[in-house]
Amino acid sequence: MGRIVQKYGGSSVATIEKIIRVAERIKRTAKEGHEMVVVVSAMGDTTDELLGMAKSISLNPDKRELDMLLTTGEQVSSALLAMALQETGEKAVSLTGWQAGIRTESVHGNARILQIDTKRIEEELAEGKIVVVTGFQGVTEAGEITALGRGGSDTTAVALAAALHADRCEIYTDVTGVFTSDPRWIKKARKLPAVSYDEMIEMAHLGAQVLHPRSVEFAKNFRVPLVVRSSMSDEEGTWIVEEEKMEKNLIVRGVAFEKNITRITVHGLPDVMENLSAIFTGLARENVDVDIIIQNVSGETENQVSFSVKDDQLNDALAVLEKLRGELGFKNVEWESGLAKVSIVGSGMVSNPGVAAKMFSTLAENGIFIKMISTSEIKISVVVDEEQMIRAAETLHQAFGLDRAEREVKTK
Ligand code: ASP
Ligand code: MG
Repeated sequence: MGRIVQKYGGSSVATIEKIIRVAERIKRTAKEGHEMVVVVSAMGDTTDELLGMAKSISLNPDKRELDMLLTTGEQVSSALLAMALQETGEKAVSLTGWQAGIRTESVHGNARILQIDTKRIEEELAEGKIVVVTGFQGVTEAGEITALGRGGSDTTAVALAAALHADRCEIYTDVTGVFTSDPRWIKKARKLPAVSYDEMIEMAHLGAQVLHPRSVEFAKNFRVPLVVRSSMSDEEGTWIVEEEKMEKNLIVRGVAFEKNITRITVHGLPDVMENLSAIFTGLARENVDVDIIIQNVSGETENQVSFSVKDDQLNDALAVLEKLRGELGFKNVEWESGLAKVSIVGSGMVSNPGVAAKMFSTLAENGIFIKMISTSEIKISVVVDEEQMIRAAETLHQAFGLDRAEREVKTK
């Protein structure tokens, strides 16, 4: 007998029929003798609809009230699921974030979980109940309800699995697992049997939408074995595990891509050390999320610095630069939108030189011009024209052997 945390995403509980089906699936696992805690997202597009209502009243709704509103979606689905479970003859109870003891920092919209007091959940489990917990919400020390950020139910599930010392955390969604690339665009993308925590964190930050990045960070820190699988089938999912537990057969495990990137270049920036920090402090102050940064020392006394932001932050970034211009004395600012970022991720890169060379030559052979580059230990990203994004991803997917089944690659 074990203890299992399961999480069902919005698409898995989108309708009453689906909630009933989910209850049956949960019951099957419970019948194997496991203690079960189930985390749910709001039904279907509920969160978006609630957000739409708020936005139709105010362009900038009060953050506290927004959290009050958005977190109601999960209360609906959790109560309905508890009823559906009771209807199958199981004992079940739904709990809100605060009833479940999920304490967060006192920030609205995107609060982090600080600690979980599992007393109530433990008591309910001891009474033989299946405990259904609302995803996405917590409570501050002062008793305010907070939301954990879009997609935050994954984090609720993993955090509960860690706090409850669960044997595993199962994330049920509408895809069958984590793929080598987005199968909607890359025909030959395959489901991966396993990825490491670090690879998954990179992939999640690079826009793979299966898991909330923070949930994977939690799983890594507390070594929670995590599996992503479909709530519609019994197909094996993808395990997210520690590096050591994986066969390091693939140097690159995934290709991610993302549109709507803008590159901004500041020309003729006087070569004074403080200037760089002034620019990026200014941007950070206005919450402009800067991704890639490149500095060119072009002349003896002047530099040129380029950085990338999401398209929707272009105006904020330009406003910051405009304000700094007089003070810093740079010449002019140029920008280019309609760009995309294509990345390869794999922990095998650490010990295999030549990965970047292969990436660049593959792109060059296919006539894809690289505008910016950034790397981490296990990732290389390039910025290219949006029109070339899919082709770039496709050729890299093939060049690094991801088109072939993993088994074939292993035997090589
Ligand atoms: N319902 C929330 C959202 O749509 C949280 C979640 O689904 O994880 O973002
Ligand atoms: Mg999600």
